[in-house]
Amino acid sequence: MDFKNDLSFATRLDEADKLKDFRTKFLFPNTADKNFIYLCGNSLGLQPKAAKEVLNQQLDNWANLAVEGWFDGDQPWMFYHKDLKRLMAPIVGAKPEEVCPLNTLTVNLHLLMVSFYQPKGKRVKIIMEGGAFPSDQYAVESQVRFHGLIPSETIIEVFPRQGEETLRTEDIINVINSHGSEIALVLFGGINYYTGQWYDMKAITEAGHKVGAIVGWDLAHAAGNVPLALHNWEVDFACWCSYKYQNAGPGGISGIFVHQKHFDNTEINRFAGWWGYSEEKRFKMEKGFVPEPGADGWQVSCTQVMPMALYHASLKIFEQAGFISELRNKSIGLTGYLEFLINEINNEIGFIQYNIITPTNVEDRGAQLSIVATRNGKQIFDALVANYVLGDWREPDVIRLSPVPLYNSFTDIYHTGKVLLAVSKNILNVD
Ligand SMILES: *Cc1c(COP(=O)(O)O)cnc(C)c1O
Repeated sequence: MDFKNDLSFATRLDEADKLKDFRTKFLFPNTADKNFIYLCGNSLGLQPKAAKEVLNQQLDNWANLAVEGWFDGDQPWMFYHKDLKRLMAPIVGAKPEEVCPLNTLTVNLHLLMVSFYQPKGKRVKIIMEGGAFPSDQYAVESQVRFHGLIPSETIIEVFPRQGEETLRTEDIINVINSHGSEIALVLFGGINYYTGQWYDMKAITEAGHKVGAIVGWDLAHAAGNVPLALHNWEVDFACWCSYKYQNAGPGGISGIFVHQKHFDNTEINRFAGWWGYSEEKRFKMEKGFVPEPGADGWQVSCTQVMPMALYHASLKIFEQAGFISELRNKSIGLTGYLEFLINEINNEIGFIQYNIITPTNVEDRGAQLSIVATRNGKQIFDALVANYVLGDWREPDVIRLSPVPLYNSFTDIYHTGKVLLAVSKNILNVD
């Protein structure tokens, strides 16, 4: 698309946008009666207006039905997760029986590693992206220790080449091939939280399988952001949080994916609990764990109705938007526009003040751009916030801005460019 740095161009794109009305379904942060331009959906998605309503409904159910709410009412809690499974499946490209809402993300990463990280003999290693989200690093290190292994010898991190910011698929695959039969697990984030790089999930999954490893993905930054095909790519397992691009609220319920091919494996380890027990016989309270078939068998504790209600309300919005393909088209446009405007600002200032470390190729990124300011980064970030543009800052030097197609407009992006130019000129003393 040929972009233009002018308001009427942005307005025209907004008018032509089929998804333009979706932003009215969300609440924007606001001070002194002025809304922020919100570009932080990569960290915490906005609150859908429906959120209060669905929580109130469930509070009413609890008040009116109390314990009977598990089996009575129009949405008995016992089966409440089933409609969520239907709505989650198209978000990650899975069959409904392959996904389930439960717990929180890092907890699920642990539970899934209990099942899918089975070091044996020489096959003990884990391949990860260098600079993975810290929680994932801690989870993996502690899992390795739990098996009596030494993290520094067991975890192989793949880093970018000298002078490069992101990973090349060929380098990832070479590392996988070079450790070959010593690899038990390949575990990557679908999109890296820091650089915004979307890895070639299909190619990496295939490479892992070729050497006989299990392949799992943390989709915190990918689910609800880019199209995924976990079932067709034959991914073994995955998990994600619902509070970033999926707008299900702080600490929202997480989702897991377990590929159908593992359903009949009775040898699989798991840390079991009563809610993963065969649904039909759960309340017989018998000795000896019999898992519910599919991803539901990984449930441990009784289901979290309030967080599920929030996730459900948000997924209904995705359903109305046709799940991911229209959203993705718009997302490519918004992020491309932001990238264009940042390059314009570099031109206007007369030197490269902003280095976008996120890949330029749209197939290698989602909504987020990670921008390194060569001078005064933190000061510029703070000035953006003071001027009602809310992104986030990640140490040591990255400004992350993520236009979200459900609630951002091309006009938002145009204004962001204008504000960034003004604060940059001011702080850097350029005319
Ligand atoms: C956001 C994020 C997390 C957060 O995990 P929680 O358990 O929800 O706190 C973990 N991993 C990645 C890759 C993330 O982006």
